Formats: sequence, structure tokens, C-alpha cells
Amino acid sequence: MRIEILNTGTELLLGNTLNTHGGWFGRELFLMGLRVARQATVPDGDAIREAFEEMVDRADALIITGGLGPTSDDLTREIVAETLGLDLHEDEHALRTLETFFRIRNKRMAEANLRQAMVPVGADVLPNPNGTAPGLYLSPRINSRSRCAIFLLPGPPRELYPMFHEEVAPRLRALSGVDVLPVVSELKFTGVGESDFHESVDDVLAATDGLEYGYCSRIGEVDLRLIGSSEVVEMSRNLVLSRFQDNLISDNGKSLEATVIRMLSERKMTFATAESCTGGLIGHRLTNVPGASEVFTHGWITYANEAKSGQLGVPAEMISKHGAVSEEVASAMADGALKESGADISVSVTGIAGPGGGSDEKPVGTAWIGLARKGGNTITRKVFHPRNRRDFKESVSQSALEMVRRNLRDI
Ligand code: AMP
Ligand code: MG
Repeated sequence: MRIEILNTGTELLLGNTLNTHGGWFGRELFLMGLRVARQATVPDGDAIREAFEEMVDRADALIITGGLGPTSDDLTREIVAETLGLDLHEDEHALRTLETFFRIRNKRMAEANLRQAMVPVGADVLPNPNGTAPGLYLSPRINSRSRCAIFLLPGPPRELYPMFHEEVAPRLRALSGVDVLPVVSELKFTGVGESDFHESVDDVLAATDGLEYGYCSRIGEVDLRLIGSSEVVEMSRNLVLSRFQDNLISDNGKSLEATVIRMLSERKMTFATAESCTGGLIGHRLTNVPGASEVFTHGWITYANEAKSGQLGVPAEMISKHGAVSEEVASAMADGALKESGADISVSVTGIAGPGGGSDEKPVGTAWIGLARKGGNTITRKVFHPRNRRDFKESVSQSALEMVRRNLRDI
């Protein structure tokens, strides 16, 4: 079934409002075993007519959002009726519902709202308990122009989402006849790039019948999505893991920080951070995960040298001799965090975010990570992420969390 989405609203093209409907429909329909074939965003006004005419001739189902309000730029209803050659009539029930909506809120209904009770002949009115604009469903039977099932839905998410679940999803299910849901496997990897997959497994995946797969590359991470029957997905997953098991963060879409929290929790270990160049990002990522409080006890942001010395006991002479961004200081920060917090494991980061402050020996993008463990030797790692400040912080936090993950794996 070919489903297309038409999002209307000038605000979406001016950048005032982020078009979140596109992604939302994609996820919801995918969960029903359906796909969005194409999505278009157009400003209010005549552009809707042009897009509608094109899409209605191509799609089996067309979902249009926005433009059902009472103002003069809300023209979706009129444009659709006119294009399909359907008259609009005042729907008695829709009118009563509108009147009730205003009455129970002690508000006067404006003349303009009457338009919202106008319905193309033969269309179903989709109730909107969360707003004034009812949705509309035009089945393929009621017009002679197209064989497309058409849904007109309100723009505001709090009105749209419930209406989709109550009114649209059941109709789409019936129309599509899809009852077998696809199996999806979402694998997250780190320490490997898309090109590694390309060289090693891409040919086999591409030649696998019935498999749909795709990569998504993020900072310090590659996601691989496998879709197909359970056998095909299982086989492909095993192939990929036979090469990249070591780099697997999670096989259920969970983030690196969630994986680290889970591993700490399984081992009943507590954790502390000593951050310089990441400014608390590692702590932020960890505390986004439910259950972080069970394992994450202390987080220092020691940005200045005095903070590193005063809070974590890093000797001032060490800093002046080796520099704040050095193996020695990273190691001493991790040791200090372990000692001061009493945690079982700690990680530290110190680096040069730039744009200034770099040298030939320590160029912008250089960072040292330290990892200390109760009863173990403190280890360090040098990384190099020459990027803008935000991406540098993201990359360094990723490298640090990955170092923790690898270390925990061996416990
Ligand atoms: P409308 O039904 O066109 O009057 O839409 C009213 C409001 O819904 C807009 O001002 C936006 O806040 C929201 N809205 C409409 N379309 C979208 C969209 N595609 N994504 C996110 N919000 C939207
Ligand atoms: Mg609008």
C-alpha cells in the first residue's frame, strides 16, 4: 500500500515550527507494518492544491495534516472538496459538537468556526475531543476522480496523535490488510565506521533475499538496521556479529550510556566522573538514563587547574610540568575521583577543545582519558577528535564511555 503524507503550514517552511509529523508518522506506520512512500511539506494556500492533485493520483492512502482551523489560511477542506468535485454541506452532528466544545468552556463560538462543521458529501467526520477541528475521512468510493483513501487531520500534535490512533490506524489496517509485522533488529556499534561494514559484510547483506538494511552514522557510533522475516534477520545479524561482536554497544537500540549503566548495575558497581573538557556531558548522558542513581555517585567538573588540584588532589607541579592535557593529569584525575568518591570505578577526561590553545605537540582535538578501578591499575588512552567544540565534547564523552564499557566487559 502506497501511503503519502502531505504536511501543510507556512510556519513549517519558515523554520518557526519543526515538522515533527513526518518522523512521527514514519514510526507509527512502520509499527503497523506500513511505510511512508513520500512526504511533502507545503505552505498554506494554493500550493496545497498543486501537491494534493499530484499525490492523490499516485497514492493508495493520503494523509494531510493542518489547515483545518477557522482562519482564512486554513483551506485544506475546501481545496480537497473542490478538487474531487464534492460539495460541502453543514454536518449537523459536527456543528452540535462544536457548540458543545465552546459551551462547556464558557466561550463564545465565532462565526468563523462554523466552517469547521462543513463536510464534503459522503465523508466521515473524525471526532476531535482535544480541539475544535474535526478530522475527515474520504473513502475512495465517494468521488469519481481517485481511488485514494484520504485523511484530513488537524495540525496540533495533541489533537492529531489521538485521532490517528482512534480513527486513522483502524481504517488503514482494514484497507491494507497487513497483519504480519516485520522483524527489526537495531544494532549499535562503536569503534568501527560505515566503511568497515562496507568492506566486510555489505556484499553479503546486499545479496540476501528479503533483507532490507541500512546504516546510520553518528558521532562515534554506527547503527545498523536489519528488517525482514525472522530467519533472514537472524542470519544477517549472526553474520554481522561474527565480524563486529567486539564493537557492539547494544542489539536493541539502547545507547552507550544506557549500556554502561546496565553493566555497572549488573556488577553492583558504583561510578564517578572527573570531567574537564566535556564540561559535564558524560554525567549528563549518564543521568539521562533511568536507574542512573543506583550506580552514578559523583561527578566533578574540574575545568580550572586549581579545581583539578583542589578537588581531586592533582599536584600543581604535575600540571605545570606536563600540562593540564596530559597522560599524567588524566591519570591523577581518575585516581582523585576514585579516592574522593569511594566509587568502584572512575573515568576522567582532559582535552583541548579549541579553537585556541593547541600546539604542535598537542593540537586542538587532543584529549586524554583516564580510568581508575578499585584494586586495579589506572589506565589511560589518548584520543584525537579535531572537530567543533560541541562535536569534540560529544566525541570525547563517547570515547570515555566506550573505554568504561570495554573495561567492565572484562569484569
Ligand atoms: P493547523 O491545524 O494548520 O492550524 O496547525 C496548528 C498548529 O499545529 C501549528 O501552529 C503548529 O504548532 C502545529 N503543527 C502543524 N503542523 C505541524 C507539523 N507538521 N509538525 C509539528 N507541528 C505542527
Ligand atoms: Mg496551519
